[in-house]
Amino acid sequence: MLKKWLHKVLPGKSAKPRRAQKQVIPFSEHRIGADMLSFAAEKVVRRLHNQGFEAYVVGGAVRDLLLGIEPKDFDIATNATPEQVRKIFRRSRIIGRRFQIVHVMVGPETIEVTTFRGGGKVQQNEHGRIMKDNVYGSMAEDAMRRDFTCNALYYDPITQHIIDFHHGLADIQARQLVMIGNTAERYQEDPVRILRAVRLSGKLGFEVEYETAAPITAYAGRLKLEPVARLFDEIMKLLFSGHAVQCLAQLDKLGIPDNIHPILTALQHAVADSDNIVSLALRNTDERLRADKSVSVGFVLAAAMWPRLNEIWQHNTAQGIRPVPALTQAINELLDAEKGWGVPQRFSATMREIWQLQPQFENIKGARPHRLIAQQRFRAAYDFMLLRAETGNADKVLARWWTTFQSADDETRLQMTAAAQNNHNNGEAKRKRRRKPRKKKENPQDAV
Ligand code: ATP
Ligand code: MG
Repeated sequence: MLKKWLHKVLPGKSAKPRRAQKQVIPFSEHRIGADMLSFAAEKVVRRLHNQGFEAYVVGGAVRDLLLGIEPKDFDIATNATPEQVRKIFRRSRIIGRRFQIVHVMVGPETIEVTTFRGGGKVQQNEHGRIMKDNVYGSMAEDAMRRDFTCNALYYDPITQHIIDFHHGLADIQARQLVMIGNTAERYQEDPVRILRAVRLSGKLGFEVEYETAAPITAYAGRLKLEPVARLFDEIMKLLFSGHAVQCLAQLDKLGIPDNIHPILTALQHAVADSDNIVSLALRNTDERLRADKSVSVGFVLAAAMWPRLNEIWQHNTAQGIRPVPALTQAINELLDAEKGWGVPQRFSATMREIWQLQPQFENIKGARPHRLIAQQRFRAAYDFMLLRAETGNADKVLARWWTTFQSADDETRLQMTAAAQNNHNNGEAKRKRRRKPRKKKENPQDAV
């Protein structure tokens, strides 16, 4: 009774129990033409058809096209087995163990082709997590195995029909994220679906439907048992979705605890305050991605972990270690710990280089600035220093000096470093003059 009432008063609840029912939606109702697919996606579907198989564009691409968003990639579902797909396309390879998929390469594009999953037995562990799922089935069964209703739409470019088993189109129109099937079981089968709910609701600006959101807090802790590399990948998808700020807001809203992964923890702590380096870096990343500009994973991770690094650095200097060795020690300590976080080595190397160069921006006299600007990582380290200055963690005047310096010609650069040297010398001289004259030491022998 209480549950019934709660369902009535809580927002986002689904109005009536959902029953899977196949609907065929014609072009006139969705307006997605075959010409909206990538060349490769259309080619792969047609080739599979010509070989006598069923094939559809499925998942995020159909969802995004319906929302007027350019799809990131195209996934195809077929009744051909991975081996059959592999034989049809010369440039293809089977990947994955838990779920086998085939990567088909067409020109510069890679299309992911999956065989319809069956509804039957899957191998699960004691937590109900799916360990192996290579049982094949029909399209209807495949739709049941997908995560959200908006991701279970099948588009056939030949008839230009969309096949919808779970009211996905209606949910997209209502802008709500709805899990297919028993939500608690679906999170147990694969806890990463929790992070997918966070990312998709953040990216698409969808409300997470009541039944879909409700079990999340109970199962989010299971994410800690996932392979760390998979978690890292999913966190990266979240950070580089173009909507990182909204995704992080969703983490909080959906009640994800802050102990899932150290990078997530750092992000969760940082977003509580919008004026820090992490929030600023994420806002910049979102803007850059939306403007189709390049972004650097190492740079964003360096920003994400900077507050933690700064803490260790300050701690080390408080112990009496000089600033530069104190920073090196802090970097070593943090990157050592990071080895267990699934971060590929190339990103850690970038983080180290960016961090290590930070104290060098303090030296603006003589030959040093000329050497720093010639370093391969100068640009990234400089951008990083600007972020620090913007958030009060580095000197703003110094940041402006570097901005002028790096865009100046050689002659002006020389003048700038010479001027800095002169200022320094004058300052030193003044300091010396201001020093009290030392008392002449009395003869130590007299003192005894
Ligand atoms: P995008 O590519 O925009 O990040 P997507 O929804 O296409 O989002 P993919 O990782 O490309 O995400 O997955 C393709 C499709 O595979 C999804 O739309 C969904 O139908 C299905 N899928 C992916 N991951 C899962 C999962 N963990 N559980 C169930 N289905 C999944
Ligand atoms: Mg996709």
